[in-house]
Amino acid sequence: MTARIIDGKQVAADMRAELKAEATKLRQQGIVPGLGVILVGDDPASRSYVTAKERACEEMGIYSDDNRLSADISQEELMQKVKNMNNDPKINGILVQLPLPKHLNEAEVLLSIDPDKDVDGFHPMNVGKMVVGEEGFLPCTPHGIIQLLIRSGVKIEGAKVVIVGRSNIVGKPLANMLIQKNPRGNATVTVCHTRTKELANETRQADILIAAAGRPNTITADMVKEGVVVIDVGVNRVDDPTKKRGYRLVGDVDFEAVKEKASLITPVPGGVGPMTITMLLYNTVASAKRAPGKGQ
Ligand code: NAP
Repeated sequence: MTARIIDGKQVAADMRAELKAEATKLRQQGIVPGLGVILVGDDPASRSYVTAKERACEEMGIYSDDNRLSADISQEELMQKVKNMNNDPKINGILVQLPLPKHLNEAEVLLSIDPDKDVDGFHPMNVGKMVVGEEGFLPCTPHGIIQLLIRSGVKIEGAKVVIVGRSNIVGKPLANMLIQKNPRGNATVTVCHTRTKELANETRQADILIAAAGRPNTITADMVKEGVVVIDVGVNRVDDPTKKRGYRLVGDVDFEAVKEKASLITPVPGGVGPMTITMLLYNTVASAKRAPGKGQ
């Protein structure tokens, strides 16, 4: 069996077209969805993420308030910036690009974001709502993965899902979302990590395998069963002298070998990545719809 490739760019483009239509409808009602973006310092990866997010906002008709702050900003100044955005009626969503420089207290900053504007879904209030299945903001990468599965025709309900990775931004929230009692959930989920014994014994059980370890070749062909659906979240740089920049991006899965056994598989790049930003825009539009008074 050779897998069908899940085209994350196409799925993201379809969702963005839907969101653009919704944003246009909101504008006609005098509501302009707004995203406040805070980038501290000039880490090149963070800068390129933020630029991509700002560009996506522009395409979508979402107002974006861009704040590029000096790397030596104090905790107080940064907290004040967040507070101003909390009180700004033009802002429906606040994004603080992580990681923050070491001298800043990341947890305190995230906690200071108004949970009603927490479009990254990292505030403990939204994490709690997600766990108990109440409506709130869902974190973008795991929500994007679920959208990719659904829009590729994969049945999640009843599936045996194995997630490799238990981070707070991918593995843990994804596991929580997949066990919710609804048709987008109802999966039986195993979460693996570095202390898991016999990883391959776990991954071979998977109908749907999610790799979010951040390490190339974590999943090889002998670790998957025939017909598995594979979602590769990993983004890893490996040296490649044939490339101008000296490296290329690969996922956590041995793509070429695993695709010969899988029924569906995401590439890296072009799989999960485009969905993450799309879900941020989705949350921003949802926020504007939920609390239009806050966005004018
Ligand atoms: P992280 O915080 O470093 O967590 C990695 C997790 O994988 C940890 O739970 C770790 O276990 C586990 N792990 C690592 N090596 C393993 C192994 N050999 N066997 C079993 N488990 C292993 O990473 P993250 O933030 O979740 O990100 C994971 C990857 O996804 C990264 O490559 C990141 O760049 C990528 N990512 C992509 C997107 C996107 O939009 N495309 C978004 C977020 C992240 P322990 O807990 O035991 O250490």
